[in-house]
Amino acid sequence: MSLPPPPDTAPLLREVAACLSAMPDLAGSGHLRMFEEEAARRLGIAHAVAVSSGTAALHAALSACGIGPGDEVLVPALTVIMTVAPLRALGATPVFVDSDPATLDLDYKDAARKVTARTRAIIPVHLWGRMGDPGSLAAFASEHGLAVVEDAAQAVGTARNEQSAGMVGTAGCFSMKDGKILWSGEGGFLTTDSGVVAAHARAFRSHWQPAPPGEAPFSRLATNSRLAAPLAALALANLRRLPDLIELRRAQTQYLLTALEQVPGLSALTPSAGEEWNGFSPLLRIKLSGPRAFAEHLAQQGVPNSTGSFRLVPCDTRSPFPRPEQPCRGTAEILDRTLAVVLTERDTQATLDHYADVIARATAAWAP
Ligand SMILES: *Cc1c(COP(=O)(O)O)cnc(C)c1O
Repeated sequence: MSLPPPPDTAPLLREVAACLSAMPDLAGSGHLRMFEEEAARRLGIAHAVAVSSGTAALHAALSACGIGPGDEVLVPALTVIMTVAPLRALGATPVFVDSDPATLDLDYKDAARKVTARTRAIIPVHLWGRMGDPGSLAAFASEHGLAVVEDAAQAVGTARNEQSAGMVGTAGCFSMKDGKILWSGEGGFLTTDSGVVAAHARAFRSHWQPAPPGEAPFSRLATNSRLAAPLAALALANLRRLPDLIELRRAQTQYLLTALEQVPGLSALTPSAGEEWNGFSPLLRIKLSGPRAFAEHLAQQGVPNSTGSFRLVPCDTRSPFPRPEQPCRGTAEILDRTLAVVLTERDTQATLDHYADVIARATAAWAP
């Protein structure tokens, strides 16, 4: 097996150079508008609104869904703090829901137990690019009358049952931080079919200017979370490379998983039936004792991974939140036992061979 060649980076330089030659761009419109139009067209949705980060996309989307003080929003504990911070900023309360270790999907029984009269929305998080069943999500949301704002920060290019990640809910939120498949260094965008949500997000990212139809500019306090023009130029060039970037990531992930197929103590977590996974991160279940220490050991040996390098823990146990009465045990099990290797488009076959070698040796020698 061999990897496709890495996509050419020359278009990135060309697009940024074109952008710089038009600066200062007081209207802030050229590359931003091009990126938004092309993103919406390529992703098959009515509107894309570019912002300064994935966090800002979630903030704008949740605000557009009317989330505010006193509201409760269901969030999987299987996520990063960035999913939750915008809720707090809006005065809402995150209510953490467990996930099912067998599927990585939300535990809808746990979610149903946690619905109250104040619950307004649910944020499914497609962590590691994996996507839960959109049918179960839609049924749950409609039964309880909830808005759906997807955290698709890692999930560009993933689909399940022909439904693309980020295009299932009221709004889908993407990050373009370095390390995501579609990157601009820092940046993000949200997607929606709703003109009302898009207009709210455009106002929200720029101090309520332009205001949505029928409202006065600056008549509400909002944020500056605009995407800078040179970053929009990078985003546009990468958007055009996206099919190649996704193909490469899928091939890298498959390559590493194949190389580790015969290693005892590790088994690949494979996508569900009907899931077209973007291969964001090679995922392996660690069946050794002391799995978290093993992931940390691999990080020290130069194999970057979610738990070992970034200390990913269930969000309900993070210090900004009250200590949970019943912690999300399925989530803890998933995070303790999952090795999620962090890849970039620069990782060559030689890098992946090296990772496989380090992982195989470390597994054989593991005695915690
Ligand atoms: C990266 C990421 C975010 C936040 O995106 P930023 O651009 O860093 O603000 C949110 N959720 C998930 C799952 C992410 O991976």
